[in-house]
Amino acid sequence: MTYEEQRQQMVQTQLISRHICDSRVIKAFRKVPREEFIPKKNRQDAYGDYPLPIGEGQTISQPFMVALMTQALELREDDCVLEIGTGSGYQVAILAEIAKKVFTIERFSELSERAQATLKKLGYKNIFFHVGDGTCGWPQHLPYQAIVVTAGAPHIPFPLIEQLSEGGRIVIPIGGTFGQTLIRARKSVGSMEEERICGCVFVPLIGKFGWHKDDRNSF
Ligand code: SAM
Repeated sequence: MTYEEQRQQMVQTQLISRHICDSRVIKAFRKVPREEFIPKKNRQDAYGDYPLPIGEGQTISQPFMVALMTQALELREDDCVLEIGTGSGYQVAILAEIAKKVFTIERFSELSERAQATLKKLGYKNIFFHVGDGTCGWPQHLPYQAIVVTAGAPHIPFPLIEQLSEGGRIVIPIGGTFGQTLIRARKSVGSMEEERICGCVFVPLIGKFGWHKDDRNSF
């Protein structure tokens, strides 16, 4: 099967069959070539139903998890979105297909540079990159209507709450370093209304308002 055929099959069997129903999310997944974000030696697995290594001990998330998080953000076309954890750049491409602007932060410069090269090659012009600690957010461009954190955190970093607009949504895995609960929290009159989405396993969010390097020896 060609990558295009594998991509359409992935959308049907991994997303639509598991209740991903936002038409803009489905359209974005039908379009973005996931194989471009995967290191060459693993490209044959680009449309597998699992995460894959991308270097620096990090992963590109399972397609279904990317779709679930994106759908939970309830994006509108004029939204500005902040993503913490650029990784391969795949999720930011999906977000950029739906929202007006996406700001993305990655702590590893090597990953950010590779993602920037991939997204430039694919022609994206509404994505803005920063290398640094995403737990502090990116205050220069606030407020964000949606924030997605693609690494597991002990709690919602408070700078991200401050940088979210009223009515804004944050989707974030919260819990321990070996397993978390995916949460959607909505900012309402200054406080956060939280909903549980599902259990999940993400690499740790490491930073000032996340985990610290000495919290677990193997970070
Ligand atoms: N969204 C990515 C994709 O589509 O490939 C997947 C990201 S991977 C599961 C999580 C990423 O979060 C890793 O690349 C990791 O380096 C990054 N990360 C962890 N802590 C971070 C922090 N404080 N600031 C920015 N990035 C961080």
